[in-house]
Amino acid sequence: MTLALPLARKVSDVFSELDKAIADFQSESSWACREGCGDCCNSPEVEVTVLEALPHALGLWELGKAELYSEQLARFLGKPCMFYVPNVSDSSLGRCSIYETRPLLCRMFGFTAQLGKDSLPRLAACRWQKLQGAELLAKIDGELKGGTLEVPLFGYWEQRLSELDPSQVLSQRLPINEAFLKAIDYVYWRQQAVLP
Ligand code: SF4
Repeated sequence: MTLALPLARKVSDVFSELDKAIADFQSESSWACREGCGDCCNSPEVEVTVLEALPHALGLWELGKAELYSEQLARFLGKPCMFYVPNVSDSSLGRCSIYETRPLLCRMFGFTAQLGKDSLPRLAACRWQKLQGAELLAKIDGELKGGTLEVPLFGYWEQRLSELDPSQVLSQRLPINEAFLKAIDYVYWRQQAVLP
């Protein structure tokens, strides 16, 4: 079943544009994650907005699995993302089970930059990337400062998403499982035409 929720489609379009920008950066810089790493997912501190959880929530309704996942998500409040599948022997290694529809933040982590006080971009690398790629990171920083390399800017992509929600009702950051739960509810009420 295909449901009409133009907002979720617009969010997915922003995801596709960001993925392309990150792929360009990766191919020009050779910057990568630790192979098989899931360390950034393995934390109860991950927060995303309901807006960026909408594409996955919509997909769950379309598959007829939304109610089942709502019950499961309610049991994961206060825990790491329910969609993270850790390795049995080392929970810092693992995989995302919803990779295609994962939120914006999950796409950006490790591959976007923040602007420093000097207005120059600095790659927001995780601890594994810093450990494994210190030399490459120094080279990338140099190229970013020299303007010979472009990197997606965290603030720009956050703004692109936020512009889709002028009322900002769906743009508050929440613990990730709660955001998915609220996104599933939002799709339901939107289909009932109760929400604007
Ligand atoms: S949605 Fe995927 S990438 Fe994002 S925290 Fe969950 S498991 Fe990790």
